[in-house]
Amino acid sequence: MYLEASGLRVLVDAGFSCREMEARLAALGVDPAALDLILLSHEHGDHARGAARFARRFGCTVAGTAATLRCLGLSRVSPRPLTVESGRALRVGSWIVTGVAVPHDAADPVAFRLDTPEGSIGYALDLGHAPEPVVRNLEGCQVLIVESNHDPDLLEQGPYPRELKQRLKGPRGHLSNGEAAEFIAGAATRETRNLVLAHLSRTNNRADLALLSAHRALGKQSGSIRMSVAEQGPGNGWIES
Ligand SMILES: [Zn+2]
Ligand SMILES: [Zn+2]
Repeated sequence: MYLEASGLRVLVDAGFSCREMEARLAALGVDPAALDLILLSHEHGDHARGAARFARRFGCTVAGTAATLRCLGLSRVSPRPLTVESGRALRVGSWIVTGVAVPHDAADPVAFRLDTPEGSIGYALDLGHAPEPVVRNLEGCQVLIVESNHDPDLLEQGPYPRELKQRLKGPRGHLSNGEAAEFIAGAATRETRNLVLAHLSRTNNRADLALLSAHRALGKQSGSIRMSVAEQGPGNGWIES
């Protein structure tokens, strides 16, 4: 996810190859060399695959928890990485970056709350469930980007091996549409303008099911929130908030 606010250019997670990210940024009219920061939620390949190469190629600063940086061999890259500590605010330019520990089967995974002078962004992908502190930390963000990974019935009937199904459903796996909707309903306030449902499984979910679930949970509030689904294929283009 590429974010721009108050002059800061930030990539949140970097799961594509370096080349693919360059192409996608170019399609948005963004010069990769102008990026200020790559924020990493955790070390899994679909979030960090291209991070090291991209950071080296463009001299971009990376940030993540100490364990995430260590897992990715990024503890000693230049420029010096920024260490995110769960619950502690980190100032980057005019932004305040707060990592929030999430339950997921990685070394030290976090969600992010990004407070910028232009508004706040909440980013929570890859979590098995949403404990109260995670919901509270993302409360009132103008933009919410939340995982809505699977529909429980599609997952159950789908082709995945039993162990993988258990992992996905488990408390340190991924959010179902229903769990995501509950999370969103708890975190959204009158300030919330944009909701992006992300990390949908191609095999075990459908965009219409995820959107319906979020609409239902938000009730009347859904009328004032623009909702979209993050596409794996071509990407989404700009969302202005
Ligand atoms: Zn993960
Ligand atoms: Zn993931």
